[in-house]
Amino acid sequence: MHQAAAAFDLAIIGGGCAGLMLAHYVVQHASPLMRILLLESRTHYTRDKTWCFWQEDNHDFSDLVQHRWQQWAFGLQDQSHESQHTQSGALSYQCIPSEVFYNAMQTHLSQHPNCTVMLGTNLTHCQAHDNGYCLQTNSATVYANAVVDTRPPDAAGLHEGLQQVFLGYEVRTATPVFAADRAGLMQGMSCDEYGFRFTYTLPFSATHALVEETRFTPHAVPLLTLRQMLAQTLQQRLNGQAFHVEREEYGCIPMTTQLANTAPQPATYVRAGTGGGAVRAASGYAFQRIQGWAQACAREFLRTGLLLPHPPEPRWRQAMDAVFLEVLRTRPTLTPSLFMRMAQALDDQTFARFLSEKASAADVLQVIRAMPTLPFIRALPVLLPTIPRGLRWTSAP
Ligand SMILES: Cc1cc2nc3c(=O)[nH]c(=O)nc-3n(C[C@H](O)[C@H](O)[C@H](O)COP(=O)(O)OP(=O)(O)OC[C@H]3O[C@@H](n4cnc5c(N)ncnc54)[C@H](O)[C@@H]3O)c2cc1C
Repeated sequence: MHQAAAAFDLAIIGGGCAGLMLAHYVVQHASPLMRILLLESRTHYTRDKTWCFWQEDNHDFSDLVQHRWQQWAFGLQDQSHESQHTQSGALSYQCIPSEVFYNAMQTHLSQHPNCTVMLGTNLTHCQAHDNGYCLQTNSATVYANAVVDTRPPDAAGLHEGLQQVFLGYEVRTATPVFAADRAGLMQGMSCDEYGFRFTYTLPFSATHALVEETRFTPHAVPLLTLRQMLAQTLQQRLNGQAFHVEREEYGCIPMTTQLANTAPQPATYVRAGTGGGAVRAASGYAFQRIQGWAQACAREFLRTGLLLPHPPEPRWRQAMDAVFLEVLRTRPTLTPSLFMRMAQALDDQTFARFLSEKASAADVLQVIRAMPTLPFIRALPVLLPTIPRGLRWTSAP
């Protein structure tokens, strides 16, 4: 049954990571008269993701962190590298299970009567209306002065055509097999007909871990194939020991620089989250980028009534990611040794700062120095569009 139309100051489409985080920061400081709406197509939340990131111990979501690792490991099929124990106060690798985050955000929003959360509500149409927007859903028509749209992008047609595809099992074993103090970031790195592959392991205890078979690939990888590969990996990693699968986690993240904003302006309608360029093209990490955006966007909205899109990628990062994706696409067999070189050449904190976007200029130089020259020179033509016009050499006037 359709309900009567209602009016809101802000409508957030999609109550996933970006939508919930923005609502969380907006309600913290919004006047009780400000009306906020969050539309989410799911009827209920489940444990669908395990968000990890490098961070200091204290941050806005530190209460939700379920596990911290002070060490992380990399490995080729026949060679491994482990980081040293990080000092306290330094960046550790931290994990928030999605259901912990969803529950905490829902509890927080429910304490603010000016915030309406509509689960099981699918946005079907959104159009400009007077000075705002008219949103049609499967159950109601609503009006809002400003809209943040966090629906996922249509990844087909993004020209780099690369995606990060992974399937993980959360497993339990009868006897200890996992090194619980060390996250396995990229182990067993190799390359086959689907491209670059590795295993990602989050050990929660010696007998309990999330083990993921991961691909950076331009090809569609059938779920059945991923399942077979994961079964083989588990067989090898656990030396044939029996295990019980508690849960499955699947993801397919576009690896593209095309969703990034080039000249974002405050506006009354913005795309955000994955569809708004939140995901780092070369790594698939987005949680902290979404958090930074949500804080800034909430502040701007409460101050001016306008919304901020995700910030543009700095030129150096755009360039590095574009070259990296080009190497990954055209010379995937080089990728395992590239990552291994980087892991061996950088100390653990430089590596963590680089991936969590806290890198200094010296850190970036260290990363560049760790890379082999030839494949990167070959990939340099993709850099051209990212170099400012005035700095380019051109034969034509
Ligand atoms: C399995 C997985 C694991 C990941 N792990 C990490 C990690 O460890 N670290 C990291 O930094 N990043 C990680 N990422 C990347 C990124 O952080 C997540 O994808 C993150 O959830 C992106 O947030 P989002 O809000 O853009 O998308 P989502 O969280 O997917 O939210 C989008 C929401 O929009 C809703 N929606 C869609 N269409 C409609 C509609 N028409 N009407 C209403 N609602 C709609 C969906 O139901 C969904 O809830 C992971 C991604 C995946 C898929």
